[in-house]
Amino acid sequence: MTRTPATQMDAARRGIVTPQMALVAQKERRTSEEIRGWVAEGRVIIPANHAHASLEPNGIGSMLRTKVNVNLGVSRDVRDYDVEMQKVRSAVDLGAEAIMDLSSHGDTQPFRQRLCRECPAMVGTVPVYDAVIHYQRDLATLSADDFVDVVRLHAEDGVDFVTLHCGIARETIDEIRRGTRRMNIVSRGGSLVFAWMSMTGNENPFLERYDEIVEICREHDVTISLGDACRPGCLADATDGCQMAELLRLGELTQRAWDRDVQVMVEGPGHMPMDQIAANMKVQQSVCKGAPFYVLGPLVTDVAPGYDHITAAIGGALAAASGAAFLCYVTPAEHLALPNMDDVRQGIIASRIAAHAADIAKGIPGARERDDRMADARRALDWDAQFAQALDPAIAWAIRDSRAPEDDHGDTCSMCGKFCAVRSMNKALAGERVDLL
Ligand code: SF4
Repeated sequence: MTRTPATQMDAARRGIVTPQMALVAQKERRTSEEIRGWVAEGRVIIPANHAHASLEPNGIGSMLRTKVNVNLGVSRDVRDYDVEMQKVRSAVDLGAEAIMDLSSHGDTQPFRQRLCRECPAMVGTVPVYDAVIHYQRDLATLSADDFVDVVRLHAEDGVDFVTLHCGIARETIDEIRRGTRRMNIVSRGGSLVFAWMSMTGNENPFLERYDEIVEICREHDVTISLGDACRPGCLADATDGCQMAELLRLGELTQRAWDRDVQVMVEGPGHMPMDQIAANMKVQQSVCKGAPFYVLGPLVTDVAPGYDHITAAIGGALAAASGAAFLCYVTPAEHLALPNMDDVRQGIIASRIAAHAADIAKGIPGARERDDRMADARRALDWDAQFAQALDPAIAWAIRDSRAPEDDHGDTCSMCGKFCAVRSMNKALAGERVDLL
């Protein structure tokens, strides 16, 4: 008797096109066979936990449309789960394909379970954050078993991908202690793993127990997102030995998950000067054999708090055009506070602009069609059609409406008024008189 495929990758390797692969093929204008082949190779992932019934699956891979993740979740200072659920709905409406629940306060399981019940986007978590909250015990008192059990709990709850900070080892502790980095470790999960290893003297439990965790992920078809504990937290640390040593470990761990048909993506920088981004994407693709790259920014300068959705969008566009498949949004509140609804909105739109710009540059099928429709709408001075193509129609409408021309016939905006180039050209080409005064 043939067994049921354990994971999307297992199915793909056995020549089976799953309903999720067929749906992704349709959305991406690819053939089912192309998607199946890429999933089999690990170059495309479809995070889809067996238990996430409300999921509308998406594929992640550099040859597909660039996807956007939104981080949410309560903290000790901002802890209203209903507000977080509103942010989830707003994120999905604005086009986010994934939600990471990074809650670090209270009873996190009901919110996680509700997300997996109601959210059509992929759901991701970082189990190491949740371990302290789940057990309500200090970090140093937790055992390796406790961490593994939290991964299992999240997998059972229906989470589609988990970030695991497996890439740091005892030698990383020594290297960081030697003071080689300007910003040490800025990954929240990475810092917790580092602190646990420092306090207990033990090896990284996510590294040491990796094969066991892979089996849990195989059982539930949870995708492993290999966390970048050593992502540079400032330009000075970009592409340093610490980041590269971790990446080499992540390459080995990618293969070990693939050996058990478990899907993998690899997380990346961080803060990084623009001239290093393309090279980093190439190195990652080579070391991790084409596994999709999930970048956190990259932020291309350190000096714009309040505007880091812009510094990240610049880096994200460059990264995605150079091969990254998945962008983690960054909001204006980055480095400053938990984002509110407006921060979330601005962060998503900035990431979607970056993703879309990269998709056009990469020649992703159909990526430019919306821009062409916008050009036609602009040439026709058809404002409703322009709003329909806008990434954020509400903002576009509000700006025009608040500053409409005094004598508004809909044939200009208040920027140039009667000197509107589009109007003048339309009239001149139609043989009409161009009246300016
Ligand atoms: S008035 Fe100027 S900015 Fe406005 S639509 Fe015409 S050309 Fe564009």
